[in-house]
Amino acid sequence: MEKVNLKNFDFKELENWVKEQGWQKFRAKQLAKWLYNKKVSSFDEMTDLSKDIRNQLKEKADINALELITFEKSKEDGSIKFLWRLHDGHTIESVFIPEKGHNTLCISTQVGCAVGCKFCFTTKDGLIRNLTTAEIVDQYIQSQRFVGLEPEKRISNIVYMGMGEPLANYENVKKSVRIFTDDKMAGLSNRKITISSSGIIHQILKMYEDKEFPQVRLAVSLNAADQKTREKIMPISETNTLEDLMKTLNKLPVKTGYRIMLEYVLIKDVNDSPKDAHKLARLIGKNKKRYKVNLIPFNPYPGSPYQRPDKERVDQFHKILWQYNIGAFVRWSKGQDISAACGQLRKKDLETSFITKASLNKN
Ligand code: SAH
Ligand code: SF4
Repeated sequence: MEKVNLKNFDFKELENWVKEQGWQKFRAKQLAKWLYNKKVSSFDEMTDLSKDIRNQLKEKADINALELITFEKSKEDGSIKFLWRLHDGHTIESVFIPEKGHNTLCISTQVGCAVGCKFCFTTKDGLIRNLTTAEIVDQYIQSQRFVGLEPEKRISNIVYMGMGEPLANYENVKKSVRIFTDDKMAGLSNRKITISSSGIIHQILKMYEDKEFPQVRLAVSLNAADQKTREKIMPISETNTLEDLMKTLNKLPVKTGYRIMLEYVLIKDVNDSPKDAHKLARLIGKNKKRYKVNLIPFNPYPGSPYQRPDKERVDQFHKILWQYNIGAFVRWSKGQDISAACGQLRKKDLETSFITKASLNKN
């Protein structure tokens, strides 16, 4: 009999599974508490379950979906990049980002990515496979265990900005969000979870119409303010045009406190001119209150075809948006020294140098 991974279950499913085992319903609450509150990694730690139940659990179920291979800690800002092994040998990464007053975890949803943005390292070998719900959720549990369970270490924010296109792994991503936001499970705040998409229009619409998809923040990777430029760097734009995308976003029912984040990777001589900034401002037009703009200076990686603009150019772009009263922020990525920034995560060949750097100590 194949074992089930309990982290693939939302609360209702966990309850059903518990009932199928012939156990009382309240066992589901107990299990959820051990998994998501205490964040234990073995059934033996679940001390309020009888030995008999624990033995049955060991036979029938798993709770871990990832194995930590190695990690790197940034000397510059304390962010930590984790490399995890999946059961079939593939690897993924997550990044813990400590910030003033809160901590963010950037998580992956796929091994690789099929979308093919020209500036992104993740997509170089295409898509290998979707992550399961348990593999998504376990990034949060195991990262938290690693950094510690003290209140100041608590991961309060989750951004789906690691490897992969979250909306191309719709069902598993949705269930992970249900687990993250359920008070009986991880109990994180909806507005502290952000899903970033390259702009697959029908999937965005599906998410907003789906009553079972908890409302979280949406970020959309715009990356250009005109169709021609966007097509050049994001082939997905040929079928999901900028015009249709903006029309869709302009109509989404957006609650207060849930402004849509427009992400814009600034690439030298591609989309970083003052003219581009004015174009972006005009594209947003009268919908300023609906959006926040996140400017991400391009993060280079080995063999990348593009460059990062210098700081002056970035500041100039930023200032122009402010002149239009558009809320724009520059995100100088964290973890530069450990290649942990946006677009730099990629399936690792375990023979490479990454593993030899593992000698870093935890503090
Ligand atoms: N697939 C999703 C989420 C992961 S990518 C998406 O595309 O939105 C997260 C963000 O990193 C996106 O905004 C993407 O445009 C950006 N990005 C990708 N490669 C980058 C790079 N090399 N430098 C800076 N940002 C990059
Ligand atoms: Fe995929 Fe996002 Fe990278 Fe585009 S930027 S290739 S959608 S991970």
